[in-house]
Amino acid sequence: MTISPPKTSTGSTGSSYDIAVIGAGPGGYVAAIRAAQMGARVLVIEKDELGGTCLNWGCIPTKAFLSDVKPLRRIKISSVYEGKEGLSLNLKKMVNRKNEVVSTMVDGIAILFKSNHIHRVRGVASFLDSKTIGVAQDGKQETYTAKGIIIATGSTAGTIPALNIDGRKVLSTNDILTIPKIPRDLVIIGGGAIGIQFATIFNALGTEVTVVEMLPKILATEDDEVIRRLQREDDEVIRRLQRVLEGDGITILTDVEVPGGRPKGNKVEIEFQEKSGGKSQLRVEKVLIATARTPCTEGLGLETIGCRMEGKRQNGNQCGWGVCRWRRNREDDVRPCGLGRGGYCCGEHHGKIARNRLPQNPDLCLHAS
Ligand SMILES: Cc1cc2nc3c(=O)[nH]c(=O)nc-3n(C[C@H](O)[C@H](O)[C@H](O)COP(=O)(O)OP(=O)(O)OC[C@H]3O[C@@H](n4cnc5c(N)ncnc54)[C@H](O)[C@@H]3O)c2cc1C
Repeated sequence: MTISPPKTSTGSTGSSYDIAVIGAGPGGYVAAIRAAQMGARVLVIEKDELGGTCLNWGCIPTKAFLSDVKPLRRIKISSVYEGKEGLSLNLKKMVNRKNEVVSTMVDGIAILFKSNHIHRVRGVASFLDSKTIGVAQDGKQETYTAKGIIIATGSTAGTIPALNIDGRKVLSTNDILTIPKIPRDLVIIGGGAIGIQFATIFNALGTEVTVVEMLPKILATEDDEVIRRLQREDDEVIRRLQRVLEGDGITILTDVEVPGGRPKGNKVEIEFQEKSGGKSQLRVEKVLIATARTPCTEGLGLETIGCRMEGKRQNGNQCGWGVCRWRRNREDDVRPCGLGRGGYCCGEHHGKIARNRLPQNPDLCLHAS
């Protein structure tokens, strides 16, 4: 692929670019900025906010909350502070601070886009053919063409067949970031990195937290490098972490599935099915679904360009992190990166690979590992 010198784009329908990036999460925005720095005319199509899951509903909001609760936890376990029983956090202020942190970072990406002459279009992208993207917004559709296209569409919050997310009692990981009141008790379904982060946050806020994990241990599906390191130490790190969490008062149930659940008055009744055969129930104020996320590919028109997802499917028609593989149509220059690619790794890493390979080595294709 030959890269033409960057020009200021009018961005009108029919505009043509060297590279179009679908999705402005860490996978997409990093790839876009690098490609622009290498001299490409770049278009980024994002249906929501710049920064994707990571900045708006993932890493950054949870880290903002974790940094708020950390001092409280330290004081609570310290033997030298007095009057600590009366200490509490103001959830409303936490949410406001988190929103400020997020919007500062989102604005930062907008500035980077501007300074690198990246044209951003708001709307839902879908392939019309392997070089043409339709962008739908407010009932209108515009089209753009590009010599190379990076798919960085990421993933959406996980769901389970047993419980419908209603945003009030049964929450997604997006919903819980704006929860108006600290719940008395909370069941978190999914003991991966996301579930454990929320367990730590709400435990520190005084909520009675139960984590339910269907696998034999928590954090069982973390990325390969972490797993390798942990296994070298014979899972001792996970066991130690579990002991610390339990010491803080978090209940952790492993080898337990949730086959059903239903709203009961102002609570939710959850069923637990142990692998060993035992059954039990719990009534709680809130349930958080923190199970494997779903790659965001619906409506993208992958079939139009001969791309497909493959791999193990979970929960009917959902693909979990790290189980989907992309096949690139070798005749075209369409590459997946980040979570849209199905890998577990942070999108930014794949964005860097995509951006570096696209202009220099168009024959290289990103394979899911
Ligand atoms: C609660 C939570 C905490 C997390 N904590 C961490 C952490 O501490 N560390 C870490 O490394 N990772 C963490 N993650 C994971 C991290 O958020 C993801 O790895 C990262 O966001 C993936 O980047 P991405 O660019 O692939 O996808 P995303 O960030 O999901 O971005 C994809 C973007 O594409 C857009 N899009 C999708 N389809 C279309 C379309 N058809 N047209 C236009 N736009 C579209 C979406 O709106 C979205 O903005 C966390 C995730 C969650 C949910």
